Amino acid sequence: MRRSSVLAGLAASATAPALAAAAGGNADLIVTAATIHTVDATTPRAQAFAVRDGRFIYVGSRDGVRALRGPRTRTLDLGGATVLPGLIDAHLHFMHVGQALREVDLAHLSSYDEVVRRTVAFAAGTPDAWIIGDGWDQNLWPGKAFPNHAALSTALPDRPVVLNRVDGHALLANAKAMALAEIDASSPDPSGGRIVRDDHGAPTGVFVDNAMALVRRAIPPPSHEQLVRAAVASLAECHRWGLTSIADPGVGQAALDAYVELANAGRYTLRNHAMLAGSDDALIARYLQRGPQPLAYGGRLAIRAIKLYADGALGSRGAALLAPYDDDPANTGLLVTPPAKIQDVATRALRAGFQVCTHAIGDRGNRIALDAYEAALGAVPARDHRFRVEHAQVLSPQDIPRFARLGVVPSMQTTHQISDMPWAGARLGPQRVLGAYAWRALLDTGVTIANGTDAPIEVVDSRRTFHAAIARQNEANQPPGGWYPRQRMTRAEALASMTAWAARANFIEHVAGSISVGKYADFAVLDRDWMRIARDEVMATRFLATYSSGRQVYAAPLSTAALQPLRARRRGGSCCGVS
Ligand SMILES: [Zn+2]
Repeated sequence: MRRSSVLAGLAASATAPALAAAAGGNADLIVTAATIHTVDATTPRAQAFAVRDGRFIYVGSRDGVRALRGPRTRTLDLGGATVLPGLIDAHLHFMHVGQALREVDLAHLSSYDEVVRRTVAFAAGTPDAWIIGDGWDQNLWPGKAFPNHAALSTALPDRPVVLNRVDGHALLANAKAMALAEIDASSPDPSGGRIVRDDHGAPTGVFVDNAMALVRRAIPPPSHEQLVRAAVASLAECHRWGLTSIADPGVGQAALDAYVELANAGRYTLRNHAMLAGSDDALIARYLQRGPQPLAYGGRLAIRAIKLYADGALGSRGAALLAPYDDDPANTGLLVTPPAKIQDVATRALRAGFQVCTHAIGDRGNRIALDAYEAALGAVPARDHRFRVEHAQVLSPQDIPRFARLGVVPSMQTTHQISDMPWAGARLGPQRVLGAYAWRALLDTGVTIANGTDAPIEVVDSRRTFHAAIARQNEANQPPGGWYPRQRMTRAEALASMTAWAARANFIEHVAGSISVGKYADFAVLDRDWMRIARDEVMATRFLATYSSGRQVYAAPLSTAALQPLRARRRGGSCCGVS
């Protein structure tokens, strides 16, 4: 579908229920502001809107909204502020955002010594048996080599420690953790994973991709109470950056139980498009049997998608490439799931009415995902499947038009481009890099891009998502002309990728993604207008408030201290060895 017709279609579907709703009485809430970007093609700009029973019942002028004002109507004049539709992050590991608050933050540290020191200091202050950390990146250290556990094991001999690499595709375990996991020199590499070993064959403590599970299986799972606490923390972090909806890749039953408990208590204030963890065969079988659950639990949780993995990540050279890495000529990356399994799950999903979302980073990973989808769609033709490729990061030129042809949504994270640009060229070489983070090339084929952050791989901060999309520059506006700037999005495209287009990828465009009559009254308030200010001012803008179903779920504190992202952490690589 062409971009323009997507927006037009969204608007048309919202109009009819809207007029009916408007006839029903006075508004609960009337909002006026200097600038309201609706992301609705029928009324792109408005001065006012009205809300009743959690939905927009009017969008238009200050004069027009007055008729809906009754004695009990609250009014909110936002003055010179800018209102956007509630933002949607199409790829955010919701539980992990909350859990990360209880882990030692190792992002941006410039040596392994610092990693060890920070971990020791953290361990002294936590009662948890296992010390979990996150964010180390050997590319920032002298020598850039993977670490050896010896220094960490000497510093913390009695407590198990697991430190995840910045991209979630490798971890470092100390001797105690490896002992509890019963790993030694005789442990074989699992399929799709690697135990890094020294010259004598002994594990160095670094476990890549599927090998990480060998260590993680020894970590006791979080309790239900811990998960609920993590979810509550994550809600606050999402709302702080204007988010009112997300897609949550790779969730299991325990996370779903926590979401349902909060939703039933009226405390789950996001709309979550949960993607079931495809590695859990029993979970998939159970939910396919049950059938898709569109937005339920008071409009808060949808369970109609499955997350699969084709390959690893570029930062740890696990992304599957069609030809070897330019900076590692013996390596073409890792396939995490047999292609036949992707096709099998996709076929069963189509029969049951489920969406499939496959992580694919390398050009070979992407081709495998597209091939599997094409074969499944050949067996079970479906018109509106909205299958997704998560990341779609490095594409062979011949595969770029296949997304539009097959109706597959590229779900991309614009901040990955600015995090990866220092080393992506070395991994890929001058030719292949032209198909990396190729937003413009994809948009020109007629697809829409669902944008997201992959948080906690990247920060939740949606200013960064928007800025990366329009600038292809980092927060310091480097490199000066932008990195392969022809692939930039326009501002309208960037905003759509974080609202209407992400809504469509999450199957919620009939109720979210624009400020349109009939949709949930989800909106975000910014102090300045992203569509007008200079590009390099975007990172200095401030979210003033966030509303979900017409209720305020975030208000900016008076202090500016809270403007910093909660955990400005991960840089480099991408995604998601978390589920
Ligand atoms: Zn991810």
